[in-house]
Amino acid sequence: MSVLYGLSDDDLAIQQRARALVDELIPYEVEVELAGGAMPPGLADKHRRMALDRRLYATNIPRALGGQGATTLQQVLVQEQAGRATNALGWVMHTPPSWLAEVATDEQRDRWLLPTVRGERVECYAITEEHAGSDVADLAATARREGDGYRLDGVKWHVTSYNEASYVFFQARLDGGPHDGEHAMFLVDLPTDGVRVVRTPAYTHSIPHEHPVVAFEGVHVPAGHLVGSEGEGMTFAHAWFRFERLMVAARCLGAAERLVDEASTFATRRQVGGAPLAERQLVQAMLADSLTELFAARSLTYAVARALDAGVDLKVAHAQCSMAKLYASEMAGRVADRAVQVFGGRGYMRENVAERFARELRVERIWEGASELQRVIVARQLAKRGVSALV
Ligand SMILES: Cc1cc2nc3c(=O)[nH]c(=O)nc-3n(C[C@H](O)[C@H](O)[C@H](O)COP(=O)(O)OP(=O)(O)OC[C@H]3O[C@@H](n4cnc5c(N)ncnc54)[C@H](O)[C@@H]3O)c2cc1C
Repeated sequence: MSVLYGLSDDDLAIQQRARALVDELIPYEVEVELAGGAMPPGLADKHRRMALDRRLYATNIPRALGGQGATTLQQVLVQEQAGRATNALGWVMHTPPSWLAEVATDEQRDRWLLPTVRGERVECYAITEEHAGSDVADLAATARREGDGYRLDGVKWHVTSYNEASYVFFQARLDGGPHDGEHAMFLVDLPTDGVRVVRTPAYTHSIPHEHPVVAFEGVHVPAGHLVGSEGEGMTFAHAWFRFERLMVAARCLGAAERLVDEASTFATRRQVGGAPLAERQLVQAMLADSLTELFAARSLTYAVARALDAGVDLKVAHAQCSMAKLYASEMAGRVADRAVQVFGGRGYMRENVAERFARELRVERIWEGASELQRVIVARQLAKRGVSALV
C-alpha cells in the first residue's frame, strides 16, 4: 500500500509494469519526431506485442472478454504512464471501446470487439464533421434504410488512426423511418466500397497516427452493423467521451510529471552566472508552481476514478470527468510552457522533450470536448445539483 495516494499492491504493480514499458519507448521519441511521426518498420508491431505480453493492453475490458479487467483507477494509472512519452508512443497501451461489450451482438463481439481486445484489429471513430464538432448533435451525415441494411453518406473530419485502423465507427443521423432525425452508430470495415480519404492534413504534433478527412459515399452496410438500436448513437458517444476525458486527464498527469522531472534535473545541472539554475528564485517559482499543480490535478483525477469505481451517479461522473479533463489539460499546458522557459533555447529544439510536449499537449484542450465545453458541462451540473453533489 502506498501512503501518498493509498494505492494497493495491485495498483502499484500495474503502475510499475506500465512505467517500465514506457521507459523502453522513450528512447525512440527523437527518431520518430525527426521522421515527422513515422515509425521504423516493424517497431509499432513490436511495441504492441510488448503491451499485450505485459498485460497492459485492453485494461478497460473485462477479463471474460480477454481484457485486463482493471479498475478505473488502475486504467488511469496505466494511461498516466502512457502520457510520459511524446509522439504518441504510449498509445500502444490501447483501450478498445469498452461500451461496445455491453451492446454488441454475438456477430459484433466475434468480428470486431474480441479481435480488437487481442490486438489483431484497430478501430477509429468518424463522428466530427466540418460543421459539427463541439456540437455533435448537429451531424449532417445520414443513414438510410436500404434493402437488407443501410446506406451511409457523409464527410468526417479528424478521423484519428484511420491509417492504422481496420474498421471505423461511423455516426450519422437517420434519414426516414420511425427514428427519422435521430442518431445511430455503425461499424464499417476498412476498406469498404464508397469510403475514401479526401485529404490528410498535417497537424501540430508528429505522430504515427493520421487524422484524415474521410468521405462515406453511398456506403452499404448490412443491418447487423448497426451498434445497439436506432436512436442510440449519442448514448454511445457520451459513454466514450466520459471514459476518454478521464484518460486524457491521466495522460496529462504523466506528461506533467515527465516535464517537472526533466526541467528540475536540468535546472539542477545547468550553471548560470556561477550558480545552478535551480537556485534562481524565479526558476524555483516555475518548478514549484508546476509541481503543486501536478499534485492537485493528480489528486483530483484519482478521486474521480475512485468515484467511478464506487458507482457514482452517471451525471455526476460526467461532470467530474469534465473537471478532471479541464483542469489536468490546462495544468499540463502551463507546465509545458514553463518547462520550455526553464530549458531556455534548448527548450525550443525539437529534440527537447519540453518543445515536443508544448506542441503535443495543446490538443488536449481541444479534442474530446474543448475546455469551453467542459466548463459548460460543469456549470450546467452545478446549476442542477449544487456544489456538494459534485465535489
Ligand atoms: C488531432 C485531433 C484529433 C481528433 N480526432 C477525432 C476523432 O478521432 N474522431 C472524431 O470524431 N473527432 C476527432 N477530433 C475532433 C475533435 O473532437 C473536435 O475538434 C472538437 O470536439 C472541437 O470541435 P471543432 O473542431 O469543430 O471546434 P468548434 O466546435 O468549431 O469550436 C471552436 C471553438 O469554439 C468553442 N465553442 C464551441 N461551442 C461553444 C459554446 N457553446 N460555448 C463556448 N465556446 C464554444 C470551442 O471550445 C472552440 O474553442 C479530433 C480533433 C483533433 C484536433
